Amino acid sequence: MNPFEIDDLRRYIFSFLRKEPQAKCCVCHKVLIWDKKIAEYVHWNYPHSAFFAIQNGYYCMLCIRQSLPSTGCLVV
Ligand SMILES: [Zn+2]
Repeated sequence: MNPFEIDDLRRYIFSFLRKEPQAKCCVCHKVLIWDKKIAEYVHWNYPHSAFFAIQNGYYCMLCIRQSLPSTGCLVV
């Protein structure tokens, strides 16, 4: 018996196969969340300000550090 001949079962199996990550870094496109968290990330979602002029979105730790102005030691 071929399980792919059963529609419901096929849909159930394919529901585990995700094509797109749930979140990826908006700078380097590294996958951050794929069903579960894969890499440390920052979800930047703040009103625009002159001080932090970075676009809202997901950032991996490397890119958020490069996007933020250098303030010496930044403890996250
Ligand atoms: Zn990145």
